Amino acid sequence: MTERLIISEPYYFSDSISHCGYCKGQKPDKNDNFAVKSWYDKHSEAKDGLDAQNCTLGVQAELVSVEMYDRLCNMGFRRSGKFLYKPDLLRNCCRMYTIRTTTDQVRVSKDMKTCVKRFKKAVSPEYNQENKKDHKGPFNFTQEIIDTESKSDNFYTKFEPAVYSDEKYRLFAKYQESVHNDFDHNAKSFKRFLCDAPFSPEVIRGTKQEWDQLNDWKNPERSHFERVGPAHECYYYNGNLIAIAVIDILPSGISSVYFIWDPEYGKLSLGKLSALRELAISSKINRKHYYMGYYIQDCPKMNYKGKYGGELMDLCNYRYTPLTRVEKEIDHSKFFVLSDDPNLTNEPHLNERFSGTADVWQTPGSLHNVVENIYGVNGGAFKVADDAAEQLSRREIPYSRELTHDICNDGNGKNDIYRIPNVVPGLLPLEEILQMVLQKKINLVNNSMVLFDTSVGHIRLVVDFDSESPKIKKAVCDLVRLFGLQNTMDSLVIV
Ligand SMILES: [Zn+2]
Repeated sequence: MTERLIISEPYYFSDSISHCGYCKGQKPDKNDNFAVKSWYDKHSEAKDGLDAQNCTLGVQAELVSVEMYDRLCNMGFRRSGKFLYKPDLLRNCCRMYTIRTTTDQVRVSKDMKTCVKRFKKAVSPEYNQENKKDHKGPFNFTQEIIDTESKSDNFYTKFEPAVYSDEKYRLFAKYQESVHNDFDHNAKSFKRFLCDAPFSPEVIRGTKQEWDQLNDWKNPERSHFERVGPAHECYYYNGNLIAIAVIDILPSGISSVYFIWDPEYGKLSLGKLSALRELAISSKINRKHYYMGYYIQDCPKMNYKGKYGGELMDLCNYRYTPLTRVEKEIDHSKFFVLSDDPNLTNEPHLNERFSGTADVWQTPGSLHNVVENIYGVNGGAFKVADDAAEQLSRREIPYSRELTHDICNDGNGKNDIYRIPNVVPGLLPLEEILQMVLQKKINLVNNSMVLFDTSVGHIRLVVDFDSESPKIKKAVCDLVRLFGLQNTMDSLVIV
């Protein structure tokens, strides 16, 4: 039996770009704030000063299965503690693309070799004698790391449940203060951010067998690894906790959540090393991909991920394409949508994609970037979505035409945090929702979806979508936009 998704209604936040954690609203070229060039041209010619914003949508999640979270990661979601979110890549100032790679896709650079060698030197007391015997031939970082750690008597790591300890928090505090100049933290915020997860308590705890298998990942004899769920990998050097990798072990790969390290060991480049280690571990425990979070082309803190090669997600198609294929398209932090039809002007339908596993574009070289056709100033998506909104409102599902067709607003229209714009890349297009309503497919939520009404503390089944209140109907449709029909049917929603 699959676990029921337990989530809140969707939220939509838009905020000043000065609050963006990546660019802080300080990109030298304003063009780079805009997802699509024609929108930048429009606003720079009009000299109206309108700019992109910092726009995110998501839900508070109480319970998600690891399998479901794996699928959500492959639809552009990430989690921060129990908050599941994805950016609105059309209105946001930074393009945050889901990136993943494999040991086969990684391009091992000189810098990576240096990093592994420096680590080897630090943790192998007999390194100097061995140094001269460094064998020539292709550099296999997985084997280098395994050999080094197996022989070391002052370095080891340990996988364990992602639970709080004072020792972990002390390291986090030191890291945040020294590396990020962040003094606004406490034990509670650390726990919420890096220990809490929307998985069941059994999954979070795991079994002794799962942890034993995982901690034996370097053993060439071992090929069976059961663990799925969150983990802390604690790094110990000379008996001290010097780093913690916060990761999610998913059926399709390892997803990196965060990495904290002791600034006193800055010389070891532990961040770089951890990425190589996690790549190596993914392949050793038979999880194909290494999910590195978001790649941001114009953010120095985030674009190092491109050095590991790999694939970026085409969010409007839920398909991956090699990073090298779209390097030109995403220059200046631009958005891309690939299609085999150069004249495509509508957003692709997405519902069918939710149930399958993540796809890759088969012949990316022959595809066209149709982002202007769909999302540009004269793009087709806005009119189609507004027409659908109007038809939905006639059926008492309270969507509405947007007053101005613009991806920017002047900040005066106070943003209702539940109000998701009619066009958001990577959500099911409103026109697809309308089709579900017209064809009564939306009624599949009947006798399946559960609502928890916090105002009356009452839990109940959705028995008949058509006779629900307009507010509930819209909440159901918004969830379908985010998660697809099947996942919404199988959910318990806190309203
Ligand atoms: Zn930004």
